[in-house]
Amino acid sequence: MRDPRYDILFEPVKIGPVTTPNRFYQVPHCSGMGHRYPDADIHMRAMKAEGGWGVVSTQETEIHPSSDISPSNQGRIWDDKDIPRLQVLTEKIQSHGSLAAIQLAHNGIHTANRLSRIAPYAPSDAMVDVEDPVQARGMDKADIAEFRKWHRDAALRAKRAGFNIIYVYAGHDMTLLQHFMLQRYNTRTDEYGGSFENRLRLFREVLADTRDAVGDTCAIAIRFAVEEFLGKDGLQHDGEGRDVVAALADEPDLWDVNLSNWSNDSQTARFSQEGFQEDFVSFVKPLTTKPVVGVGRYTSPDAMVRVVKKGIFDLIGAARPSIADPFLPQKIKEGRIDDIRECIGCNICTASDNIVAPLRCTQNPTTGEEWRKGWHPEKMPAFDNAPSVLVVGGGPAGLEASRGLAKRGADVMLAEAGQEWGGRIARECRLPGLATYGRVRDWRVGQLQQMPNAQMYLDSPLSAEDILSYGIPHIALATGSKWRDDGVGRVHRKPLEFLTQGATVGVEALLSSGAAAITAQGPIVVFDDDRYYMGSVLAELVANAGHKVVFVTPTPIVAPWTEHTLEQRRIQKRLIDLGVDIIPLHQLAGRTADTLTIECVYSGSTRVIECSTLVPVTSRIATDTLWHQLIAIKEQWADHGIETVQRIGDCLAPGIIAAANHAGHSYARELLSAPAANMDIYR
Ligand code: ADP
Ligand code: SF4
Repeated sequence: MRDPRYDILFEPVKIGPVTTPNRFYQVPHCSGMGHRYPDADIHMRAMKAEGGWGVVSTQETEIHPSSDISPSNQGRIWDDKDIPRLQVLTEKIQSHGSLAAIQLAHNGIHTANRLSRIAPYAPSDAMVDVEDPVQARGMDKADIAEFRKWHRDAALRAKRAGFNIIYVYAGHDMTLLQHFMLQRYNTRTDEYGGSFENRLRLFREVLADTRDAVGDTCAIAIRFAVEEFLGKDGLQHDGEGRDVVAALADEPDLWDVNLSNWSNDSQTARFSQEGFQEDFVSFVKPLTTKPVVGVGRYTSPDAMVRVVKKGIFDLIGAARPSIADPFLPQKIKEGRIDDIRECIGCNICTASDNIVAPLRCTQNPTTGEEWRKGWHPEKMPAFDNAPSVLVVGGGPAGLEASRGLAKRGADVMLAEAGQEWGGRIARECRLPGLATYGRVRDWRVGQLQQMPNAQMYLDSPLSAEDILSYGIPHIALATGSKWRDDGVGRVHRKPLEFLTQGATVGVEALLSSGAAAITAQGPIVVFDDDRYYMGSVLAELVANAGHKVVFVTPTPIVAPWTEHTLEQRRIQKRLIDLGVDIIPLHQLAGRTADTLTIECVYSGSTRVIECSTLVPVTSRIATDTLWHQLIAIKEQWADHGIETVQRIGDCLAPGIIAAANHAGHSYARELLSAPAANMDIYR
């Protein structure tokens, strides 16, 4: 049963006219589903209520077509037609005893209104802060009055849809209400601009409008960015950010405080620790008598108790920890701490939203699939006749497949060639900043070790003959992949023969031996055509070991895909701070023992740089020899009792860890079972 130390987390908290059942609060977060896939969004959020989150919030919900953030899939409450599906959401959340919150949003200059084609709204004439060649209108008094009415109407619709908590949102540098507060956007000379009080006026008015419209039965929450890390150009926790909290102290029913912009609020584990916001937000509670919620990637109940007892927060806010484990509160309640699937802080979830795809998570393969595939994060249907299954390879795909199969009742034998579990994770989690990746392995190994029907064998490289000899009917090959060192990737589609004319240390060697794999003196060139994290992490590893590093990439910036994980600027800054020379927009053209010829991807002009060792980070090759050997002897399968052989994860097609985990989970769910649910109508 529950440790009494954690009782405090299960106390109710009064928020204006409503009361939470506990202190677990899922703050608003994007899902990449929103108005486009409402059933998917509803089922994902309802799952968190089932898992014990006392408050479950929507993502930002556009109040009007003048805040049309398409093609992003956010929520919409443009008119009454949006009410019924939001009502389904609130009913589902409340059916589990939780409160439903809605984050009303008008995005101001943070949208180009690509669908509605309305000129965006801003305190003063301004370029929008998305890429489109669009300028926003400086709002006149009639615009302001209209905006206030839209917000009020949206609040009334939210109340009719059954929401218990209604947000007035000024955060992430994404909302009109925040833009009005900021001197960098607001250059008005009327009563809405100039002095601090004038810049705060619209926010005060909208807060009062909202309370007047719905405050009798709904709690009014402020979501506010107390710090923007822009010095005096922005809100500062010891400057105007603090002044706003002091000025409005007891006006809302709840303060939901965080950092701006999104990349500061949702920092990855590579750049921040659990509780990383505390230094900036802890000033809030002493200034108000109202409850305060905040975030910080809290996955440890001890840390949660600490922030409540220290008087930093009344409610433990979570977006990512609630995605990685929708049942985190229930597990604490039942004393099942080791069962918590801790967020690793990788931001594949934010990337999903940024690429306009339904929510994905490295730790929780079921997220985003609650509706489409009918997947529940804690439940898997038992096999009618439990089969025996051999899983080959103990990386994320093999571990998750084994866990899922064992949970369904199969007799599972998991064989791993190496001396430790985790496959790629075992090695990657030793790289700078990636320690939390080990949680993907640790959670699965921990679960499997509790299952008597799962047998796990390390140091067991299996051959096709071994597999035939076991006579196990179902075989899952999760044998992974290896980084290639011949330069093949996106810009170079064929092996680069000239690379052999100098020293090359591949990613595999660095993953196995660390920077010790590099023995040469002189500049090390990391050539990154993978474009995600590996190139930059290895550059960091090698630079930390004292080598001079040159980072060459065909892309305009370092690790461009990490813009989706909100890390790109931090990664590029880290490399600059480490003294790494960055040469963008170049591919490889030639090699000698101590030089590299690189070529501009636009002009084709070449230059020669010093290079003692090349580290090509380009793409991977599936480790699929075993698969081909088994296919070659397919006619022998039946004689040995083999019915099915499938490749899963990287040995089918190398990808991100989240994809391998999802593939392992799919295999476990779908072996001998029809794929479930709503694949045909993805709403
Ligand atoms: P994925 O991401 O698809 O799970 P990984 O590369 O992380 O793939 O893990 C694959 C694992 O499979 C590695 O730990 C590797 O040692 C193991 N493996 C590869 N071939 C065999 C084999 N023939 N027998 C047992 N284990 C194997
Ligand atoms: Fe956490 Fe990564 Fe899952 Fe996001 S994708 S919730 S950061 S584990």
